[in-house]
Amino acid sequence: MSEAPIFEVDETVDDTGPAPVVAVVGRPNVGKSTLVNRIIGRRQAVVEDVPGVTRDRVPYDAQWNGRRFTVVDTGGWEPDAKDRAAAIANQAEIAVQTADVVVFVVDVTVGPTDVDEAAVKMLRRSHKPVILVANKADNQSLEMEAVSLWSLGLGEPHPISALHGRGSGDLLDDILNALPTPPPIVEGGPRGPRRVALVGRPNVGKSSLLNRVSKEERAVVDSVAGTTVDPVDSLVEMDGELWQFVDTAGLRKRVNQASGTEYYASLRTAGAVEAAEVAVVLLDSAEVISEQDQRVLTQVVDAGRALVIAFNKWDLVDADRRIFLDKEIDRELKRIPWAIRVNISAKTGRAVDKLAPALRKALASWEQRVPTGALNQWLTTLTQATPHPVRGGRAPRILFATQAGVAPPRFVLFTTGPLDAGYQRFIERKLREEFGFEGSPIEVSVKPRK
Ligand code: GDP
Ligand code: GDP
Repeated sequence: MSEAPIFEVDETVDDTGPAPVVAVVGRPNVGKSTLVNRIIGRRQAVVEDVPGVTRDRVPYDAQWNGRRFTVVDTGGWEPDAKDRAAAIANQAEIAVQTADVVVFVVDVTVGPTDVDEAAVKMLRRSHKPVILVANKADNQSLEMEAVSLWSLGLGEPHPISALHGRGSGDLLDDILNALPTPPPIVEGGPRGPRRVALVGRPNVGKSSLLNRVSKEERAVVDSVAGTTVDPVDSLVEMDGELWQFVDTAGLRKRVNQASGTEYYASLRTAGAVEAAEVAVVLLDSAEVISEQDQRVLTQVVDAGRALVIAFNKWDLVDADRRIFLDKEIDRELKRIPWAIRVNISAKTGRAVDKLAPALRKALASWEQRVPTGALNQWLTTLTQATPHPVRGGRAPRILFATQAGVAPPRFVLFTTGPLDAGYQRFIERKLREEFGFEGSPIEVSVKPRK
């Protein structure tokens, strides 16, 4: 009879890919909260205590055997006779929309009730995998009672005691088995050097910058133990760390100008950006920001890579140019105010040492994960202060949000209906104000329930 959480926080847990959603549903008092607390090990902020947050659909981060998932405590069905069907339909609907697996909790000391049976009908229509839990099976004789739940037609009941932990490890194994196949886990061990693309239109100074960092810092020509480097890449040590500049063969040989056309330049850019984690887009500070510059920036943002903008040839910038450049930046880069900017000169070496810290910062943002509890507390406060505008007498509500992935950070908003584009942008802007993500694009998508 241990009250200890059933799992340890495992720092080696796979942190990539979307976290699948497990919804816990059932009548009031069957032990849903107790089960959810046991799954999450009570290690997260108790969201229920935040004013205005109902117990409905509160999501929590959880992990078991190295697999990360989100548990949603859906609150209880109100067995009020008149609205019962509607309430159940509503809850089941939410389960359909949000869950990859539904955990249906029944109180084994009570046995199946008509409310449970009504719920089963709804759950079955959802075509989601349903795991039937016979809770409050605190001892062996109550465990035997669980057979009575076969009558619900949901397959084998899982007898557990959420209160004491009995059977909950086996239950979690079965939940994990029912989840969608996890993304392949990259083998452990130290990962290779961070991959950087140097991109920008011809003559902005890409080869000069590569030569500069290779000369000032130590260019590592031969392969380094434990890393495999494509022969078209360059390994360079900057600021005490090894970096892999991808697809630099063309830069070194300077064939890109020769082969000339913008079409090929953009193909080369696309390839380098694809291979990289972070891109340094070089702009010529002495010249106006051109359409071709904008296309390169768009390629990086659309590919979802971290972004550092290097204003090169800063040695040519005088006071007058500086004023114009500031205005240009305001006008031309206002869609990407989050990009990290450095003012450098590949020719003189000015501020080239700012590059490595900027890359590190952008990559940290790119891989940043916001805990589900913190994300939803922030979201609740925000949407209460500034609700979605009413359209045709109705306003869609945001039920909850999860971070579906990193590199770049991706968020999913579960809503009662589609959001106005303007409101969605507002959420994105506020998300950045709160959590940063400097140097990284982020994605926000909306999953309305029908
Ligand atoms: P919910 O309304 O479904 O979320 O139910 P709660 O988690 O709030 O639990 C309702 C009551 O049942 C509480 O008093 C719990 O302590 C109790 N309970 C929950 N799980 C168990 C269990 O496994 N065994 C026993 N004996 N009581 C439990
Ligand atoms: P790439 O086509 O982007 O690889 O550009 P290059 O590195 O070949 O540079 C194009 C031209 O700009 C060359 O004449 C360089 O010497 C010059 N250049 C590169 N960086 C700088 C800089 O920081 N300041 C100045 N004044 N000239 C630069």
